[in-house]
Amino acid sequence: MTALHTCTAGDLGTLLDRGEVGSLEITEHLLARLEACEPRIRAFLSWEGEDARARARASDERRRRGESRGPLEGVPVALKDIVAVEGQPLGCASRILEGFRSPYTATAVRRLEEAGAVVFGRLNMDEFAMGSSTENSGYHPTANPWDNRRVPGGSSGGSAAAVAAGEAPIALGSDTGGSIRQPAAFCGTVGLKPTYGRISRYGLVAFASSLDQIGPLARSVEDVALFLDATCGHDPRDSTSLPGGPPAWAGRLAPPEGPLRLGVPREFFGEGLAPEVREAVEKALRFYEQAGHSVEEVDLPHAEYGVAVYYIVATAEASSNLARFDGIRYGQRAPGAEDGIDLYYRTREEGFGPEVVRRILLGTYVLSSGYYDAYYLRAQKVRTLVQRDFEEVFARVDALVSPTTPTVAFREGDKIDDPLAMYLNDIYTIPANLAGLPALSVPCGFSPEGMPIGLQLMGPVLAEERLLQLARQFEEGHDFRGQVAPVETGEGRSS
Ligand code: GLN
Repeated sequence: MTALHTCTAGDLGTLLDRGEVGSLEITEHLLARLEACEPRIRAFLSWEGEDARARARASDERRRRGESRGPLEGVPVALKDIVAVEGQPLGCASRILEGFRSPYTATAVRRLEEAGAVVFGRLNMDEFAMGSSTENSGYHPTANPWDNRRVPGGSSGGSAAAVAAGEAPIALGSDTGGSIRQPAAFCGTVGLKPTYGRISRYGLVAFASSLDQIGPLARSVEDVALFLDATCGHDPRDSTSLPGGPPAWAGRLAPPEGPLRLGVPREFFGEGLAPEVREAVEKALRFYEQAGHSVEEVDLPHAEYGVAVYYIVATAEASSNLARFDGIRYGQRAPGAEDGIDLYYRTREEGFGPEVVRRILLGTYVLSSGYYDAYYLRAQKVRTLVQRDFEEVFARVDALVSPTTPTVAFREGDKIDDPLAMYLNDIYTIPANLAGLPALSVPCGFSPEGMPIGLQLMGPVLAEERLLQLARQFEEGHDFRGQVAPVETGEGRSS
């Protein structure tokens, strides 16, 4: 039998259904894989092996009783350290939340549990999801499994690295400006940010509430669909949650019916795009043409302002959302304070890392009276223009195809002292967040140095099914599905 850590969730489901393996056996195998990989990869902040085993045993028990909950029954799913699981640590990789445990479970996690998944682990991330390399974690960086000297991307870098290294078939991530798609591209996995409001944000620690979305990272398009089928659907506990029940996309992944019109945004092929990325994306476009779709250039004239708008809107919302970490209610409290105000100062100064401080300062500035009109209000107006660009383009084409990132994964330390260079990583991913659109990254090649390249597919609001079908069609024509990075585990080279 193939090594269990190289199986996709879909493969595991088949083995479980046939009774060839139990959830406990899968979970033990992944925990062993995790122990072997973690000294190099460090994708996890923590994991509770006994809790995972207990959940796996409960799943095996349900299966024995004929009470299987669905296609994810018994399948392990690892979690970014940004969603609440009752009784488990919740830290957003920040020192300010050290020791904090959640009093309740996020809706997305509860739905995974209700679908039978064995949720486990706390995956590393940039502190409060602010970053593109996971170097902003308050604990330690995570290595890219394809080249340990390089970053896995961020902020869901732990999620991408764990999936790429075979430590979990699926991981939950969150995407505010690209934090699922950029690390997915850097680590050679599939990642999808759903339409804003598709997955409940109840129990997701808020970074920028008008942009944040939960979504999956996995090694196949089918696994992404399995995660979405389990987690999407209205939740009365999130006022931004869209109406509608859960979808059933995993069983509907046949190629899109009839030829589609695919748009290629001209603005996404300009300065800064690495030649190897451009080449891989152009090859992917030829693939789609050969499959019968039409490809045409389109314009998103305001996309170039996306990064600027994002760093005003996201920081403004973050400065407000992060005000709750005051040393009184959650996590750490600085000792030796003279009074209440001094306690806030000391706790926040000790607890937040430099990037989080930079964002809070920026956000407070753009909201302050006198600057509000010049920055925040103006950014909101430009955000509307970015949205309108997409509306116009989607009146003509069914989906957009572009690179996910301008380059492949960069070396650790390369951009950490240059925030602007770091921010520009998200140039192609941010527009979908500003417009609330679904967007997906699927592996489409490797650079000459052996680093994965991601292809981004964007669609109109609620067009996830179309994106999944297009991505699946691409996956079927190539051999990136299920790829696991060749991690040196200390037990010889294994993959
Ligand atoms: N890299 C972007 C940032 O630093 C996006 C982060 C995210 O999507 N959470 O804000």
